[in-house]
Formats: sequence, C-alpha cells, structure tokens
Amino acid sequence: MPYPYKKMDQADFDFIRSVTDPSRVWVGSEVATEYYHDEMPEYGMFPPELYVEVLNKEEVSAIMKYANEQNIPVVARGAGTGLAGGANCKYGGIMLSLMKMNKIFPVDLQNMTVTVQPGALITEVAAAAAEAGLFYPPDPGEKTASIGGSIITNAGGMRAVRYGVTRDYVRCIEAVLPNGEIVNFSSNVVKNTTGFDIKDLIIGSEGILCICTEVTLKLIPSPKCTCTLVIPFNDLETCIDCVPALLQLPFVPTAVEFLERELVDIVETTLHKYLPVQEGNAVLLVMYDASTRDELTQCCDAAAEAALNAGALDVMLADTPERIGSVWSVRAAILEGMKAYSIAQEECDVVVPRARIAEFVKAAKQIGMSHGLKVEPCGHAGDGNIHTEILRMPGMTDEEWKSATHASLIQLYAKSKELGGQLSGEHGIGNGRLEFLRPFVGDQIYQLYRNIKLAFDPKLVLNPGKMVLFDD
Ligand SMILES: Cc1cc2nc3c(=O)[nH]c(=O)nc-3n(C[C@H](O)[C@H](O)[C@H](O)COP(=O)(O)OP(=O)(O)OC[C@H]3O[C@@H](n4cnc5c(N)ncnc54)[C@H](O)[C@@H]3O)c2cc1C
Repeated sequence: MPYPYKKMDQADFDFIRSVTDPSRVWVGSEVATEYYHDEMPEYGMFPPELYVEVLNKEEVSAIMKYANEQNIPVVARGAGTGLAGGANCKYGGIMLSLMKMNKIFPVDLQNMTVTVQPGALITEVAAAAAEAGLFYPPDPGEKTASIGGSIITNAGGMRAVRYGVTRDYVRCIEAVLPNGEIVNFSSNVVKNTTGFDIKDLIIGSEGILCICTEVTLKLIPSPKCTCTLVIPFNDLETCIDCVPALLQLPFVPTAVEFLERELVDIVETTLHKYLPVQEGNAVLLVMYDASTRDELTQCCDAAAEAALNAGALDVMLADTPERIGSVWSVRAAILEGMKAYSIAQEECDVVVPRARIAEFVKAAKQIGMSHGLKVEPCGHAGDGNIHTEILRMPGMTDEEWKSATHASLIQLYAKSKELGGQLSGEHGIGNGRLEFLRPFVGDQIYQLYRNIKLAFDPKLVLNPGKMVLFDD
C-alpha cells in the first residue's frame, strides 16, 4: 500500500498555484486551524499541507490528476459540518474546498429539477426551489452544510419520515475521479437501469471515491401548510411507545422527534431556547405538512387523539411560523447545548428498526450508567435513527472518559446489531467510527468495501484512512 505519501514541496505548491490562483492557495502555517477538523475535532485534528479554494471542475481535475501522479493525498471539503471526522487531512496533503463553486442554475420547471454546484448551501438550494414554487425536502439539522457534503454523506434529517433522505432527490452527479477524469453518473432521467447504479454508490461514499463537482436534484410540489404538535409524556417509554400509533394513522408525519426533559433543560439553561411545554419527562415533536388547511386539521386531530390514547399528558399545537420556528430551534440546538454543558461529547448514531427504538433507548441508558456516563438518547423517533449522546461529566480523568466511552460504544453497537439495526443512520464512518465498522459488517462485506475503494482509487490518494482501512 502506498503509505507514506509524498511530503509536498515548493514545486507542488507552485503547481497548485499555477492551475488555480495564488490568492486562493494557503500553505503550511497559513492554513487556518478550523480546516484541521470538521464539527468533531474529537475525531482528529490534522493540518493540511496546502489548502486551496477551487472555482471549477477543470481546476479540480488538474489538481486531482497531479496529486494522483505525485502520490499526494487530497481531501474534498464542503462546509466542514460533518460529524464523523471525514473532512480532515489525516495524512497531510491537499485540502480542496468546493465552497466557492456555489452556483445554482435556474430551476428546470419542465423536469422539476435544479442543477447546482457542490458549494451551494442546503438553505440556498431550498430557497431557490421555493422561489420557483417547488420544494427540496432534505432537511438535516445543520442548514449551513453544503449540498455537495450532504450528498456525499447522504444526509438524512428530520423530514426523512415523510420525504426520505438526500439520496431520494439526486438525479445525477458530475464528478472528478481520483485520476483526474471528469465523469457523469446517470443523467436527468427519472429511472435508470443502464448498468450498475454508480450514482447511488457515490451518494454516501464520504468523499473517498470521487469529488462531486455538480449535481442535479429532484424537486417536488410544495406543501401548502404545516404545523407541529408538542406532546409531553410522563416517561420516555410511554413517549416512544406512542410512535407506532402515530405512524399507523392514514396521515404520514413529516417528522417525529423525541427529547427527554433532561436534554431540553440543558438547551434551556445553556442557550435560553425554550419549549412551550414544561410538563413531563419526555416529549415528542410531530410535524405534519398538507395541501389544504382541512387536511392539516384532520392530521392534527387524529394525531392528538392517538397520542392522548397512548398516554400523552397534553397536546400543544404550534401553527404559526414563529411558534413552529421556536419549537424546532430547541431541537436544532441540542448539539450546541451539549457542547456548552459538558467539556466533551461522543455520539453514537445508530439506526434500529422502528419497533425496537424503546428497547435500544432503555439499553443505552443502562449501558451509559454502568460506565459512569451520562447518556442522552434523542432524535429521529420516526425513522429509528437514535442520536445517543454521551456526555463527559466533571471529575472524570481523560483516561476514564476515553475508556468508558469506548466500552460503551462497543456495547451500544452490539445492541443495535442484536436489534437488527445499523452502525450509523446518517453521520457515517469517517475517521471517528473506523474501528467499529469491520466487526459490525464482517470481513466479507468489509472486503467488498475495500474492492470498491480500489476500483475508484487504486493509489488511495482520495481522503485516505476514512471509512475503510488497508492496514492489514
Ligand atoms: C448541529 C448539526 C446538526 C446536524 N444534523 C444532521 C442531520 O440531521 N442529518 C445529517 O445527516 N447530518 C447532520 N449533521 C451532519 C452534517 O451537517 C452533514 O453530514 C452534512 O451533510 C455535511 O456537509 P458539509 O458540507 O459540512 O460536509 P463536510 O463536513 O465538509 O464533509 C463531509 C464529508 O464529505 C466529503 N465532501 C464534502 N464535499 C464533497 C464533495 N463536493 N465531493 C466529494 N466529497 C465531499 C468530505 O471529504 C467529508 O468526508 C449535522 C451537523 C451539525 C453540526
């Protein structure tokens, strides 16, 4: 295997400047430390040898071709909001930022699609769709993520219950391969059985197979109205047990999220964002979209009745943009709240079958407690993706924190597997979950992952050391 990589020298820096522009290239100590890591510095802080902002696919191609020939690693960087330690230069080399490639082309109303460059933000794409009277549904918690990053991580988010995940909205991808070739995966067609569906392989490939330089996204008609129900329960079990009753109604919710009071308290005390309901130890946030007010009322009435029958203490309706915004701002602030509350966090992003959520949540708390850790499961009750947040408590030494979280993670992943779940529902493997992937999927599948990586990137120059390892 080709480790160690070439250490970059003046000739390499000059080459990158010559195919881009010196004003968009930073070298060594000129590179800002924020580019050493993504949103999880815990998963690695690695200085790039060179940071470059590209403006078009030709620049990406020229850099990639050169790096491949010279055996220099390259890491594509979007907004750096990833939660897996993916967008960092583990082996040095080039960090290539796509954020200046952020054009959004006019919406194609006939095909109901929009073509965008990877550096456009999810919010900007959603706004462009809305301006054309259409809707781009993927809605991960971090709205400042780039569309390229969200595709390459197959971002999920809260609306997955009704609308699916990012993959469901990608028609075609233009990309630069590790050898510098520019290729298109699929085209603007609704279905496609032309050979393997490589487009779907690229989505969620965590930047280890190619660099996405343009993407065409499917849009759908906009829902006309929306509302959110805030439903408190005495305890977490009753709260989670209510979810199947809501999902079995003839109205598909847009989002179903659960939070425990302890977590809401953390957000309220650290960030002063408040839920409009104070009672109960657990709460469900349930969103509905509809085409008419009547339909929306039917959804809410049916959900309220089902929730009260399932033991809810109350049902509060948020139906103005301000009230809806303030409810969801509490949910969106969880990560920030936890960062303000404890000096270190670890996150387990398992997804389990929806019918097993309650079992996982109960087990997660017990596992945390048995290792002296505070564990706060929360998140996507509607799709089984439970963000199990592990918080470092005061008084723990570095060594105690490290070994307790490690032992907990092993047990949490084992529990997910036992319940028929998966290791990660939406944040991916990156550098942070590497050691857990192989035992989880087994040697046969792991070898397939390696073969796929090698088929795209035989010299292992694109984002090496992420998702799959070649150490043995
Ligand atoms: C508060 C908060 C809430 C979040 N909520 C959610 C959520 O609900 N659902 C969810 O799925 N995620 C969530 N995330 C995680 C994160 O926002 C997503 O993973 C996001 O899609 C990453 O986009 P990015 O532009 O920041 O990518 P980056 O972090 O820059 O990169 C992520 C990975 O993609 C690669 N990459 C980036 N751009 C390209 C490209 N153009 N071509 C090839 N590879 C590329 C990088 O190398 C890296 O491996 C959340 C994050 C935060 C901080």
